[in-house]
Amino acid sequence: MEAPELVDNLNQAQHQAVTADPGNQLILAGAGSGKTRVLVHRIAWLVQTQGVSPYSILAVTFTNKAAREMRARLDELFRDSGTPINTRSMWVGTFHGLAHRLLKAHWKDAKLPQNFQILDSDDQLRLIKRVYQNLGLDAERWPPRQAQWFINGQKDEGLRAKHIQESADPFVRTMAAVYSAYEADCERGGLVDFAELLLRAHELWLNNPALLNHYQGRFPYILVDEFQDTNSVQYAWLRVLAGEACFVTAVGDDDQSIYGWRGAKVENIRRFEEDYPQTQVVRLEQNYRSTGHILNAANAVIANNFGRLGKELWTEGADGDPISLYAAFNEQDEARFIVERITDWVAQGNSKSSCAILYRSNAQSRVLEEALLREAIPYRIYGGQRFYDRLEIKNALAYMRLAANQFDDPAFERVINTPTRGIGGKTVDDIRAFAREHGCSLWQASEQMLQHKMLSARAGNALQGFIKLIDELTQKSQEIALDQLAKSVLDTTGIFEFHKKEKGEKGQARAENLEELVTACGAFEAADEDESVLQQFLDTAALDAGEAQADEFEDAVQLMTLHSAKGLEFPLVFMAGAEENLFPHKMSVEDPDRLEEERRLAYVGITRAMQKLYICYSETRRLHGSETFNAVSRFVKEIPNEHLEEVRIKSTITRPARLQNQGSRSPSRGSKSAVRLSDSGADTGFRLGQRIAHKKFGEGIIIHFEGSGPSTRVQINFDSEGTKWLVMQYAKLEAV
Ligand code: ATP
Ligand code: MG
Repeated sequence: MEAPELVDNLNQAQHQAVTADPGNQLILAGAGSGKTRVLVHRIAWLVQTQGVSPYSILAVTFTNKAAREMRARLDELFRDSGTPINTRSMWVGTFHGLAHRLLKAHWKDAKLPQNFQILDSDDQLRLIKRVYQNLGLDAERWPPRQAQWFINGQKDEGLRAKHIQESADPFVRTMAAVYSAYEADCERGGLVDFAELLLRAHELWLNNPALLNHYQGRFPYILVDEFQDTNSVQYAWLRVLAGEACFVTAVGDDDQSIYGWRGAKVENIRRFEEDYPQTQVVRLEQNYRSTGHILNAANAVIANNFGRLGKELWTEGADGDPISLYAAFNEQDEARFIVERITDWVAQGNSKSSCAILYRSNAQSRVLEEALLREAIPYRIYGGQRFYDRLEIKNALAYMRLAANQFDDPAFERVINTPTRGIGGKTVDDIRAFAREHGCSLWQASEQMLQHKMLSARAGNALQGFIKLIDELTQKSQEIALDQLAKSVLDTTGIFEFHKKEKGEKGQARAENLEELVTACGAFEAADEDESVLQQFLDTAALDAGEAQADEFEDAVQLMTLHSAKGLEFPLVFMAGAEENLFPHKMSVEDPDRLEEERRLAYVGITRAMQKLYICYSETRRLHGSETFNAVSRFVKEIPNEHLEEVRIKSTITRPARLQNQGSRSPSRGSKSAVRLSDSGADTGFRLGQRIAHKKFGEGIIIHFEGSGPSTRVQINFDSEGTKWLVMQYAKLEAV
């Protein structure tokens, strides 16, 4: 069968995996060996040469971003082959995304209301705190976050509150009680948290044999990437779906299992061969990503773990540069060193987005960010606060959620008095108490209390106003377009004015974000005709939460935790903070299993680098407000000397005035990037990195331009006031 573009550029083992006869496959291979590539080509092969319909394929990826990339790659392969095939009917997504899709389609069978809402982890915590109040629990003694952890952990194992065994342990007893009350609240409000999505989807199979049968018939081919990080309920869901007749291709690397702390079970890889008959195991050993020094260093580090499935990687590529190790004297010096190397790299004609700075703990990013800001180098944090996670957006969304479902208690609580409308804490407490007593939603409680005049005149009026407001929005939601509804939320609820009034530029930024929400609503494309556009929009916003959001058009340095770097690759990588107690984390050094997970994280980190890797550690470090003196990480010591080269010079402070004209504009970018953040500001008479003074805010450095002409906006990092966006025309800046 002809399909050269599918098998060219595959080595023999990859070729064999891509073109194998239908059957169960376990592709077990180290980092950068082309696992993800094989998975994509396998799908294309099935469709193009075996006549398999894309409709029959289910592919599971680790992030939504990876899902989008996979679809795009397939489209490209099909286009190249001259026979474009529509991949829309193929199901590609994360376990959570797929579970959600199923629950939406079969809400009745899943025993959910049609308009069930997804709870993000903030909402979940809020709800748990309410359960605490209802149960009269002491939040000091049993921190609510612990309860959240407990509940999610149980769900990841497929356990409901009723499955938890009676225990004499007061901790377990308390947590089980919280779980049970929390479950009841979710049930009543039609609320589904992330772990619940998976558990429900699994129960959907177990409780509805006919439905299961249908999907088993529909998806004869299932393919899963990053299989080493599946948890118990995901594994079970998949196992049941696959049944006896579906073929599963699982792709993974036991050495990259890094989510054990979140319930992932690397044993699932070992179980695979037992659970899926006649599994063909494919091992890929050639690495195409990294240079010899980088790869061999990674091999040497991971060799210190026990109980590995065992595999060595080799490369045909050059040895490249040894890994550079830099001993900084403090975290500032470390950041400065990294930024200088990036500057050099960019000066050699490389893009900024080809560099990644990886760190163990989120808190490390601040110092790195400051150093980048000082040098006016644009950067992007993956997994940082995303649009839909921002306070003002969540508030506006809460109104939209109420318009979709008035029984959504977390949304109700979020905005009943935001903006302040004279409904005090006492009134809210009374409503909660009523709801608890009558086992109803806060909305229903409010209506009842108003009807029976149980509130003071003032509180009653205020509450009546709120109820009316939401009723009107609900009505509108059925009549007007989504962006009109969003606009109406901004105009009628007072939320826009409320945030706009916030102090300083923050208010302006929030107002802009809210306006952006209207734009986002206008651009939203609903996928499903049977369901309200509003509901689909709310679900998409909730599901995207917490995930990396890359602006593909801006050239920026990438910052992320080691965890978020999984599956990605960059020509230049910095691993910052390679110190004992930071990496490995101090919570893990005493526990052999956790230490091994940290080592796998080191392996993931090292293998992200394609051409050049810098590892940095700091002799002293101020983190979380205290100063620590740590030794270099044991993982660095595990790298043989031949692959390491110590950088002896401390970073130089004086440098040429290279910021001129270089700005953040990448010469190779198309016109698309010209209208985005970090425009050059060429027509403003100022440039990126320039020091300026502002009448009110004092001195600072220009870090971004946006737009052009008189309305150009400029972002400035003021020495004493932090960063602010200003409109050039009015800012009246002076060069200093
Ligand atoms: P990870 O474990 O980090 O997820 P992976 O095993 O999924 O890595 P890929 O991301 O699929 O690896 O591939 C790593 C790099 O090697 C990619 O840039 C890919 O395009 C390239 N690559 C894979 N196989 C080949 C090949 N046969 N020829 C050339 N390049 C290849
Ligand atoms: Mg991969």
